[in-house]
Amino acid sequence: MTTLADPVPGGRPGDVERATALSGELSGRGVHGVVLSYVDTAGVCRVKTIPTAKLASAAAWGVGMSPVFDTFLANDSIVATDVLGSPDGDLRLYPDLDQLVVLAGQPGWAWAPVDRITQEGERHPGCGRTVLRRIVAEAAEHGLSFKAAIEIEWAVGQGAVEGGEFVPATTGPAYSATRQVELSACTADLLAAFAAQGVEVEQLHPEYAAGQFEISVGALDPVAAADRSVLVRQTIRAVAARHGYVVSFAPAVFAQGVGNGGHLHLSVWRDGVNLHSGGDGRHGMTAEAESFAAGILHRLPALTAVTAPSPASYLRLKPSQWAGVFTAWGRETREAAVRIVTGTAGLREQAANLEVKPVDLAANPYLALACVIAAGLDGMSSGTPLPEEITGDPARLDPADAAARGVRRLPTSLPEAVEEFRKDERLRAALGPVLADAVIAVRQGESEAVAGLDDERVAAAYRWKY
Ligand code: GLU
Ligand code: MG
Repeated sequence: MTTLADPVPGGRPGDVERATALSGELSGRGVHGVVLSYVDTAGVCRVKTIPTAKLASAAAWGVGMSPVFDTFLANDSIVATDVLGSPDGDLRLYPDLDQLVVLAGQPGWAWAPVDRITQEGERHPGCGRTVLRRIVAEAAEHGLSFKAAIEIEWAVGQGAVEGGEFVPATTGPAYSATRQVELSACTADLLAAFAAQGVEVEQLHPEYAAGQFEISVGALDPVAAADRSVLVRQTIRAVAARHGYVVSFAPAVFAQGVGNGGHLHLSVWRDGVNLHSGGDGRHGMTAEAESFAAGILHRLPALTAVTAPSPASYLRLKPSQWAGVFTAWGRETREAAVRIVTGTAGLREQAANLEVKPVDLAANPYLALACVIAAGLDGMSSGTPLPEEITGDPARLDPADAAARGVRRLPTSLPEAVEEFRKDERLRAALGPVLADAVIAVRQGESEAVAGLDDERVAAAYRWKY
């Protein structure tokens, strides 16, 4: 369980002693430096690194970094809001020692996610990790907790191809043994790295698109799940590089075809009991779990501004590609935006959860989880009714039938998603005004950055960014 306490100048009780001991231990294991990592509003993971000997100082006083990164775009240009985007000011990055791991794919390095606080020791309103932790902490006061996991899909390409083109590193068919054999050495190293890093892997398999693979990892509390998604990608990239490959986590490696998803699995628990199982509702859901799912479904058009935040996200969000582009839910329905996963008989109390599909890996995982959880909790507190379930592909529904069932197509462009987000006061409040404004400004900046580009160029612009 991730600590729910914010960092404080001088360190939380015990932090400095722990960091001092850790830095000695890390040095003994040949670790020279620690990567301090967070994800910006655009979804790019930004880092600072420190020598291992500075870990105790970082735990006490943080490491400086400008708040300007909150309004960076994926192409590294900067937009501004009323309070962010100025060259003024500084923040302190505080490593979360609970999540520090030695990176098996990058000998000599350890990694830790950070919280960002001001030089005055206050929460930085632009820190997505802090926002998510606050939402989880408030829910905990009402006896609620969550388990979350983010699936990761990525495409493996041949290294250093001229012009930033993607040339798949495999030729075998989707899900095939051929493809598994082709990348056997690399994926074995990957599994070894995850085992060494204490990352519980559920499965790793060749996926549908050219050179595509997928990994699922065990569920954790939401902050740790978001951290893990960052760590898993860092590890995949590093191990692939050692084998001479490049990897793309972009929503759309090409304009056409199946993209890379980052499906989000989530369950809500009350006093240690899974609300998605053993209830009187549909598929064993309790009334609260139904309303939690309904709250997410209801807000999905606005949520896409956070879960599918890149212009390239809308190249992926197409019907009949398992990306879930209609406001519909169904049990194990892979075209529904909200898929109800009951788990296998015998495992349901532990395993039942819901999956949100219109999420990709351009999304800042902290913001995505914060907003999806806020939407679900809002559904729960207002008793939002869950509409009728769908089966099959909602793209095939007769339009009048779809309208009668409330099945809507999700936004088909980033500006459309931003308009929905702008209207959604609940989601904006969940992020707080500073971060909500940053989301809007950054999305507008991304849209302007690709104005006039055709789809293939949009895909190329973001292919290597996330
Ligand atoms: N690649 C699909 C997506 O973009 C998901 C495939 C799957 O269900 O694993 O969401
Ligand atoms: Mg998949």
